Amino acid sequence: TKIFHSLRPPAPLPPPSQPLSITDYTLSLLQSNPTFSPNTDFLIDSSTGHRLSYSDFIRQTHSLTASLATILPPPHVKNQVALIISPTSFHIPVLYFSLLALGVTISPVNPISTKSELTDLIRLSNPVIAFAISAVSSKLPSSFPLGTIIIDSPQFVSMLQNSSSGVIHRKVNQSDTAAILYSSGTTGRIKGVELSHRNFIAITSASQISRFTRDENASASPQPHPVSLFPLPLFHVFGFFMLIRATSLGETLVLMERFDFNNMLKAVEKYKVMYMPVSPPLVVAMAKSDVVLKYDMSSLQLIGCGGAPLGKEVAKSFAVRFPHVEIVQGYGMTETGGGVTGMSNPDECERYGSAGRLSCNVDAKIVDPETGEALSPMQQGELWLRGPMIMKGYVRDKEATAATMESEGWLKTGDLCYFDYDGFLFIVDRLKELIKYKAYQVPPAELERYLQSIPDVVDAAVIPYPDEEAGQIPMAYVVRKPGSKISEVQIMEIIAKQVSPYKKIRKVAFINAIPKTPAGKILRRELVKHALSGASSK
Ligand code: AMP
Repeated sequence: TKIFHSLRPPAPLPPPSQPLSITDYTLSLLQSNPTFSPNTDFLIDSSTGHRLSYSDFIRQTHSLTASLATILPPPHVKNQVALIISPTSFHIPVLYFSLLALGVTISPVNPISTKSELTDLIRLSNPVIAFAISAVSSKLPSSFPLGTIIIDSPQFVSMLQNSSSGVIHRKVNQSDTAAILYSSGTTGRIKGVELSHRNFIAITSASQISRFTRDENASASPQPHPVSLFPLPLFHVFGFFMLIRATSLGETLVLMERFDFNNMLKAVEKYKVMYMPVSPPLVVAMAKSDVVLKYDMSSLQLIGCGGAPLGKEVAKSFAVRFPHVEIVQGYGMTETGGGVTGMSNPDECERYGSAGRLSCNVDAKIVDPETGEALSPMQQGELWLRGPMIMKGYVRDKEATAATMESEGWLKTGDLCYFDYDGFLFIVDRLKELIKYKAYQVPPAELERYLQSIPDVVDAAVIPYPDEEAGQIPMAYVVRKPGSKISEVQIMEIIAKQVSPYKKIRKVAFINAIPKTPAGKILRRELVKHALSGASSK
């Protein structure tokens, strides 16, 4: 059989029928670690320097859990969703772990989402309650059955200090839904990805290995305490999963409320950061920008890069500038609950241009998209994945779930890949419609809907256009109404008013007709080819 596995032994998993939340699982891993000390700093705020120790974090989590238990009594929370809309702050990990301990499904969203984007997400996840910072709460529809709690309010702070109540325990099944995150998957429209406690338990268990030791038996030499900096947003699967993992390992995390490149460099120097999980545009900036040279980066040991492809040239110039820093790639999707490769020590990830070897407990196949046949090493095909970290499905969307998850439990990733003879995964191309602007998802169908609502537009299609800094930018092909004089810039401006900045259309071309299949499906590959040939003839 042509199924690829990790070369490691399986990671231990609790019996599936044992009630266990991802909160209890994470805290039990943390507290069973012999080197863990509760006085260690868990979080550091990069801008204020404020610190939160692990013992304070655990105390706040127990206290918020108890406070929320009164607002969210058991019959209400069964499979119910809490929407969370906030930039990164100390309150976010505490809120996530508290809601998860109560068995409430959390659904964090990007705080820069527009009203109309939020309406779409809310329609998908159907939250009963929202947690929002005051600055963005006005974007929310007013009516959640259990209201909206303002995170930066005295009420919320007092819920963190509710010391009288003791530790609340609610029965949470591993099969319960822990989170609904958003992804367009392999087609153009946004969907709610339903991930269970079991999914996060599995992905956390598979990534327990320290990234800093090459030789796992060399534990005799004491390692310095790991300090990581998270420039990633905590609402995306990458940041969410890295947060759970770092907590389970007792690492110190430097958080940035608002990403700023200079402040990030300053924080690396000041807090002697050793590790950063990043997306490719940050590696580009670190490799090229001159401000980097003003700061002391000598503490950095490892950069974990994922979310989008990392260019070889970029990786090379990074290595020239930072010879002491290892850069390892990892591959994952919202639908896999986190990284399924590159999550082990550097030895398993460092092959040039590869996204690393498979993590424990995940099976992979490379499937010929035409024939459905499983392929051998060095042959390219669609990557299929199977394992306990693979999502339950798309929420209330049987059709999309069935199209993505095959009956034997395989998830079709929509990525064109191959494995080499040593089990290293290489990502070649994206077969699916998804566009990634700086590793952020831009679903083309959503932009096409906005374009089609412009009165001067007859038809439109959105495709990825290559860009050195962002990886890809969204480009629109537009068919104008006969006689219309609407310009490229006007179209871009109309869309920019309706979507988050990262979803803006950054290039427009006019065309007589959008190429389609007889069934009406847009022939995106043809448009991509057209766009690229246009670019080279200019
Ligand atoms: P998301 O659900 O937003 O995490 O997007 C998942 C998609 O990002 C994958 O299906 C890939 O297309 C892309 N991706 C993630 N990691 C990598 C990587 N290391 N190299 C290339 N593409 C990646």
